[in-house]
Amino acid sequence: MPDPWPAAGPSTWLARAGGLSAVADRALGAYLGLAIGDALGATVEFMTPREIAHRFAHQGGVHRHIIGGGWLKLAPGQVTDDTTMSLALGDALLRGEQTSGRFDTRTIADGFVAWWRGRPADCGNTCRRGIQRYLAHGSLQGPASDGDAGNGALMRNLPVALATLGDDAAFEEVSLAQAHITHHHPLSDAAVLGIGHLLRAVLAGAGPAACEAMGLAWAAEHPDFRFRPFPRRASAYVVDTVQTVLYHFLAHADFESAMLATVNLGEDADTTGALLGMLAGARCGARALPRHWRRQLAPTVAQAVTDQASALVALALARQARRATRAAPSRPPHVSPPYP
Ligand code: MN
Ligand code: MN
Repeated sequence: MPDPWPAAGPSTWLARAGGLSAVADRALGAYLGLAIGDALGATVEFMTPREIAHRFAHQGGVHRHIIGGGWLKLAPGQVTDDTTMSLALGDALLRGEQTSGRFDTRTIADGFVAWWRGRPADCGNTCRRGIQRYLAHGSLQGPASDGDAGNGALMRNLPVALATLGDDAAFEEVSLAQAHITHHHPLSDAAVLGIGHLLRAVLAGAGPAACEAMGLAWAAEHPDFRFRPFPRRASAYVVDTVQTVLYHFLAHADFESAMLATVNLGEDADTTGALLGMLAGARCGARALPRHWRRQLAPTVAQAVTDQASALVALALARQARRATRAAPSRPPHVSPPYP
């Protein structure tokens, strides 16, 4: 007979997800994958596939190494706003939890301000507008706006997915709160939640068949994002970004071929690369990431994402343990036997 008061809490979630070392490896794979895709894609951001093929004719027409450059003139191994804004968001989540025991939207907005004042390599127009609005009025979200359907809120949401593992309600609430600081549009919201839930399933150990089913079911519910047949657009419009990322994540079983197919479409290549890297990196885990790309990442970047990935997973498990303690029903002091 099953125990009517089963032990709830982190051990249950963690056991279902395959244990701590599997979850930690997937979380680190996601964060390193994000940084790798950002660093690789930045070289060809805003280029067309034809321009990329011409520029890399000496490599069979394929851009395949983390060499920096691009319109931002990056040093090899450096990353752009996709990774640095994610790190700023993750820092704010960790800080908010440590100081107040909860995720605090104002702490996140202040984190974006500090990030922006630190002169990041780049900052999208919608992100800049949102940060300036917060500075001017202190408001944590602007009115819903047709101009907010870019991918800027989606590109930085990985830390929220990690910090709320095992707690879907908190994931949705914090995701939308951080998104609305700069982006307030139903397509951005749908993408943040849809890609986030898929990522969380991968982090919890979902296999290829489950991912395929999830991706197709979500696109059927949100037909704007249908990605088969693949429309082959990879711009910063969040629909284009999501179609490119989902299509390649599901079409290629291995990290490297999925990544090369994605960034060689150009356009918003650092962001499509980052999001593809996040999903595919979670799927294969950090230990299975291509070694040459891990080595080409700047050591400071690799260290920052490594530290933050483990801190966020630790935070999620601590939150699960707290919730389990609060939720555990106490056994009644005496149970009468079911017979006279
Ligand atoms: Mn970028
Ligand atoms: Mn970009």
